[in-house]
Amino acid sequence: MELTENALKVLHARYLLRDEKGVCLETPEDMFRRVARNIAGAERLYGEDASYWEDRFYELMTSLKFLPNSPALMNAGKSIGQLAACFVLPVEDSMKSIFDTLKNAALILQSGGGTGFSFSRLRPRADIVRSTGGIASGPVSFMKIYNTATEVIKQGGARRGANMGILRIDHPDIIEFIRVKRREGELTNFNISVAVTDEFMEALKNEGEYNLRNPRSGEIIGSIKAKAVFNEIIESAWETGDPGLIFIDRINRANPTPHIGQIESTNPCGEQPLLPYEACVLGSINLSKYIKTEDRGQKTEDRIDWDMLAEDIKIAVRFLDDSIDVNIYPLPEIEKMHKGNRKIGLGVMGWADMLILLGIPYNHKRAFEFARKIMKFIRDKSKEASEELAKKRGVFPNFKGSIYDAPDMPKVRNATTTTIAPTGTLSIIADCSSGIEPLFAIAYKRLVLDTELYEVNKYFVRIAEKRGFYSESLMNKVFKKGNLKGIKEIPMDVKRLFKTALEIPPEDHIEMQAAFQEYTDNAVSKTINLPNKAKKEDVEKAFILAYDKGVKGITVFRYGAKKGTLVKIADSD
Ligand code: ADP
Repeated sequence: MELTENALKVLHARYLLRDEKGVCLETPEDMFRRVARNIAGAERLYGEDASYWEDRFYELMTSLKFLPNSPALMNAGKSIGQLAACFVLPVEDSMKSIFDTLKNAALILQSGGGTGFSFSRLRPRADIVRSTGGIASGPVSFMKIYNTATEVIKQGGARRGANMGILRIDHPDIIEFIRVKRREGELTNFNISVAVTDEFMEALKNEGEYNLRNPRSGEIIGSIKAKAVFNEIIESAWETGDPGLIFIDRINRANPTPHIGQIESTNPCGEQPLLPYEACVLGSINLSKYIKTEDRGQKTEDRIDWDMLAEDIKIAVRFLDDSIDVNIYPLPEIEKMHKGNRKIGLGVMGWADMLILLGIPYNHKRAFEFARKIMKFIRDKSKEASEELAKKRGVFPNFKGSIYDAPDMPKVRNATTTTIAPTGTLSIIADCSSGIEPLFAIAYKRLVLDTELYEVNKYFVRIAEKRGFYSESLMNKVFKKGNLKGIKEIPMDVKRLFKTALEIPPEDHIEMQAAFQEYTDNAVSKTINLPNKAKKEDVEKAFILAYDKGVKGITVFRYGAKKGTLVKIADSD
């Protein structure tokens, strides 16, 4: 296998099997063999040839064309055996539920998964507690306990630990929630998002008020100016990156199984809305591997190996569906829910690389068009694959009453098939750009597991050499700046092709997110980068634009803001 030095480092530190003394027991090839064998084991349940599928899965992964989410690579074939990355757990308005769920979250965290929670059902601060005659401490105080627990547990685990905390915009404690991460060191193991309703967006547009409700009694406890709350969100997001927004009514309109429950939260990085107790397995196709020919002036479409992509999507869907059957679940409730809906999330990484190889700048009109084309293809082929599986294995058990239970809908085995994950660590292993993000820098120092490594974009080097402007002194300049702006030796078209995240206006980041969202069942992980000098109005504009463009949620991050959100956790892990 061809793995970069960074990939090997990450694999050694976190993924490869070890004995009790910490001695590494496998090579990367062994790891992929272990994963392929474990997951292909599911084929026996359907009377298929497991060893045939083991080889197909192995080839797909070792060619770095597809990788499943980290827990699958870490845990498959081991006693822990937990393969899913994304979970959502319910938090009910009782001590028992709050602490039962904390325990359950701890088990998920131990297994390498991340959990999202909505705290919206908890009664507000200073509300009554009937059994004791005391007063309640409110959702934010319990989030802090969850945060501390995560902090302690993560020290023994393979991953840093990540949670999503959600509060509805109409919860009486919403202002406290919005402000909580402005204080340094608060909720550092959480990404937080406000669940924004259509009612709120309507009130905001009309410069009106909206109601706050006590979730315990259902009582309206007052109304508040939408703009005042929105300004609070903008202020915090500008300062710290948190909170993000999730458009909860829109998410529920796309809920494939409304008869099973309402969606109230997403997983930690926001790409996977789930029902309470639901899990999802993710996998990502490395798009940089699907360009079959050099540029000879032909149409973009003709340079893509569509047949290979179609074939690989089919195998990847099968892989993810199989992984549900062999997964060892942390809780019986989660097993029941995941096996009932059988949600999988196939997405992409290496999108920015693909565009560079095609010679299309990230924020060119052609890039947005092509994003839709690629993602539509993946959606369609993944649905076909899921339909094909259903013919032999049956539709997902909760199918009856789902949105697919209609004459013109495909009879699928999976309630969802597509999700765009951040691929924080997967992209290091596969040596490609992460998710659908643009390049963050052309050359940079990256802290990978306590070692500083210098990295230069390999495509830039290739072009610089081919076009004859490569030199040591040029590279020194690129290292210093991180981007190509203002470097005279570099031709304009190359500068345009290698624009980095902060050189791309926020509206173009959102446009890319919207292009992928259009053909994605679940959601899209995307950071909307803003330069350090961005104003609060820029954050406001981005939030409104995101809503208008139909995405399911938004996270902004202003360069150099107080502290990073968790979105990039995996990178520096
Ligand atoms: P990877 O590249 O390691 O597979 P991603 O960056 O694509 O992971 O993240 C996908 C999902 O995996 C996240 O939304 C979250 O649910 C989970 N996840 C990522 N990093 C962590 C972590 N450090 N701890 C717990 N869960 C995580």
